[in-house]
This record gives sequence, C-alpha cells and structure tokens, in this order.
Amino acid sequence: MNILVAGGAGYIGSHTCVALLEAGHTVIVADDLSQRKSGTLELVQRITGRKIIFHLVDVTDEAATEAVFAKYDLEGVIHFAGLKVVGESLTKPLAYYYNNLVSTMVLAKLCLKYGVERFVFSSSAAVYGANQIPFVESMPLLPATTPYGESKVMSERILADTAQAEPGWSVALLRYFNPVGAHESGLIGETPAGIPTNLMPYITQVAKGKLDKLQVFGDDYPTVDGTGVRDYIHVMDLAEGHVAAVEKLTPGVHVYNLGTGRGTSVLQLVRAFEEANGLRVPYEIGPRRLGDIPACYADTTKAQRDWGWTSKRTLADMCRDAWRFAR
Ligand code: UDP
Repeated sequence: MNILVAGGAGYIGSHTCVALLEAGHTVIVADDLSQRKSGTLELVQRITGRKIIFHLVDVTDEAATEAVFAKYDLEGVIHFAGLKVVGESLTKPLAYYYNNLVSTMVLAKLCLKYGVERFVFSSSAAVYGANQIPFVESMPLLPATTPYGESKVMSERILADTAQAEPGWSVALLRYFNPVGAHESGLIGETPAGIPTNLMPYITQVAKGKLDKLQVFGDDYPTVDGTGVRDYIHVMDLAEGHVAAVEKLTPGVHVYNLGTGRGTSVLQLVRAFEEANGLRVPYEIGPRRLGDIPACYADTTKAQRDWGWTSKRTLADMCRDAWRFAR
C-alpha cells in the first residue's frame, strides 16, 4: 500500500516506517522536523535498504498537505504528527489543542476529498483518565488529566463521528501505553530535546552520567512499592501494531489498546535497567508530579483476538535496546 506517515520522522513514526517498509509498503513521510534532527529517515533507509519519499510539511498547513495528497495515490494515512510532552501541555494548552486537533482535521478532510479509506490515529492511554485498571477499550472515558490527553480524546471523537457519517471510511484509534526502547540496530531511538520528561530517556541520561540522578515522582501511590506503575511497550512492537492496523482495517471505527498488559513500577524499571545493562542508576524520591495517575496498564485481548497482534519483546529487551541507542 502507499501510506502517508504524518510525523514519520519522530520517535514512534520512524520505527513504524521501518516496520512498514519491511512489510513491503511504500512510505511517504510528511514531517516538519520540528521535533527531530534530520537524518533519522536516512537511518531508516539504511536499516531497511529501502527508499522513503519525504516532504517537509507541517500537516496543520492544509494547502501544503493537500499537495502531497494530490501527488500520490494514497491508500492509507497514519497520523503521528503532534505535540506530545504531557507536562508541557499544562503550560501551553493552546499550542497542544491547536496542533493536535488541526492536524487531525486537515488529514481527515483530505482523506475524504481524495478517497483515502484507511486512517490510523496515534491516540494514548491518557484518554482513560484515572479509570480502573486494566484499561479496556469499551470503558467510558473519564476526563483526561492534561490538555495533551484531552486533545487525544477530542481527536478520537472527531474521527469517530466522521467515520460514522462516511460509510466506507475506516479509522483505527490506537491507544498507546508507554513506548520505550529503540530499534535493535541502535541506529534510531528516542532523542528528546533538552532534559527528558519521560522515565526511560531520563534513566539513560543518568546512566550516561549526563544527569546526576533520577527523581522518582512519588513513593506513596497505592501500588506494589508506592511508585507509579505503567505499561511499558517496546517501540518496535508498537510499530508492528500499526502495520497490523493499516493492513487489517475494515470500514467503521475501531479502538485498540497497544500495550503489553503488564504493569511495571518506576523502581522495578530502574532495577530491570540496571540488571539488563550491568549499570547503577542513582535515584532519590521526590514529590508526585502534577497530572500523574497512580497506575495504568492495558487489557490487550482485543488486538490479539482481531489482528493476532501481541507484544513480543520483554522488559529486558526494552532496557537493553534503549541503552544501546543512548550509548
Ligand atoms: N517518572 C519519574 N521520574 C521521572 C520521569 C517519570 O518518577 O523523571 C515516573 C512518572 O511519575 C510515572 C512513570 O515514571 O509514574 C512514567 O512517566 P512518563 O513521563 O515516562 O510517562 P507517563 O507519565 O506519561 O505515563
């Protein structure tokens, strides 16, 4: 299939490009490179030995994005473009709502205009808010705790309503849990700008000696050891979930969790990283972080049942690959 990957130079986007190319698809990337050093897509080409078509485009710019739709006979769109620093969304809500909603609407509108039937959307476990765990796709959504999460809820709603009004249009809303790790080659991975806000990139920077020690955000949550619990998933497993989605989509709206179904606490992740890589990660306990929920992990039975997709890589693989890339 000819697939437009909006935001394809980003962390999850670039790994998905690898998986799409390896599955034999033609990949057209539209990315403004605002979140990324250029060079990532060259590395994707090196890993796969296949070409990517690249357009330097901000997908909130409808005219520029339409030029890409007009040029290729697209069969699917995967939408990763958007702002994703959850904490930052509390201080810059308008930027988050603007970018994340306008990009979704522009891409959806152009899909309908150009007859592109498959739309795969990067959603997030953040849409569940502080629901009961494990999170199941059929749960009513509680208010998200941040503007980032709300922007995902609203985008889901826009796409679901549109799909209902447009018979034949197919939408997959993929709710990611916590993607970590890197491609096994160590060539591409997560490169946050400045000081990382996510746990795994913070740990790798501490391991490298670039940062002194990890601050653990709270040890008084009602969890196994008091620290926050998340469902960490290897980014290549997540990438392969997108290939399954775009290939198996049928008309209508389909919501899928992409996680492992296993919860890991902050301290358990620190220990797994130390063991996998033979390193020490100094840490101290600090206060809770605004907007955090105590625990979240996925019920993953639906993706397994419908697509035969399940995560294959272990926590040790995630820790080893994250470190190989960071090193
Ligand atoms: N966390 C932490 N120290 C950090 C970054 C994160 O203790 O420097 C904790 C955070 O409170 C949460 C978990 O690690 O319990 C995962 O946080 P991350 O920001 O990676 O993902 P999210 O909170 O968006 O699920």
